Amino acid sequence: MYDCPATTAPTTRSVEQIIPASSTLEGGGFEVYRSFPGHAGDSFDPFLLLDEMAPHHHPPGEAVGAPAHPHRGFETVTYILRGEVEHRDSAGNHGVIGPGDAQWMTAGDGIVHSEMPSGRIQTEGGVGHGLQLWVNLPAALRRTPPKYQALPADQMAVASGTGWSADVVAGSILGATGPASTHTPIGFARLTVEPSTTLRVPTTDGHTALVYAFAGSAAVGAEGRDLLAHHLAVFADRGGDIVLAVDDDATESLDCIVLTGEPIGEPMTRYGPFVMNTSAEIDEAISDFNAGRMGAIAATGTT
Ligand code: MN
Repeated sequence: MYDCPATTAPTTRSVEQIIPASSTLEGGGFEVYRSFPGHAGDSFDPFLLLDEMAPHHHPPGEAVGAPAHPHRGFETVTYILRGEVEHRDSAGNHGVIGPGDAQWMTAGDGIVHSEMPSGRIQTEGGVGHGLQLWVNLPAALRRTPPKYQALPADQMAVASGTGWSADVVAGSILGATGPASTHTPIGFARLTVEPSTTLRVPTTDGHTALVYAFAGSAAVGAEGRDLLAHHLAVFADRGGDIVLAVDDDATESLDCIVLTGEPIGEPMTRYGPFVMNTSAEIDEAISDFNAGRMGAIAATGTT
């Protein structure tokens, strides 16, 4: 009889931690700012990894990327800010994605892919800048057939208001529903919030909520914690809105990615490019890859 009365006032999520992304080298030797893994806690579930591919100028003839490598048991998502990435995989998929485009690849049962600066950038040089996210799969779907979704910028769902705009890639965020098909409930949006603007982003109770800033800064969450560029805000899971407040004195807009997801909550084992349920399944993934059972990228690569 003494439950809290129902209220229509929005609640604001607390910030659990702010993580500075750490510089590390990936693939053929390009720098990424990695938010996780590498930090304690399970607040990232269903997400497994978040890398900002650091802004990098590739001189002509010297572009580096991630040549052929395998994955099994999860999904990789790439979103491009600047430059072009060319994808090829052993399932015969091929695509070039540029600014505002995304690709959502389900490695599932196993795939070999390459993620390289496009031929044009390899020849002429140019800037590369983007983001890679790994999304976990439930145990029952780890070995689902591989799938590739090309998500061009002009197919993103757009939401906007005074001082802000959002390109929604997946899920329903701020009233817009993105084009990506996901295996579990996931939200992925790129948001721009201008100075002197406070934006509330409603989220689902119990879902993980993360905001990664590429540029600009904001006061985030119930506590108004400072979120700076190349930092990740991890919100507590008790529900409520994500609040992003960009100061009147800010010299640039906040440019960020909002991620939400229903936690999968299952035990997992990960080893490099493989994420499975047991160590025996990791051993099987390694031997399947070594035996060529995840296929190879066709020499010409076009489908
Ligand atoms: Mn990869």
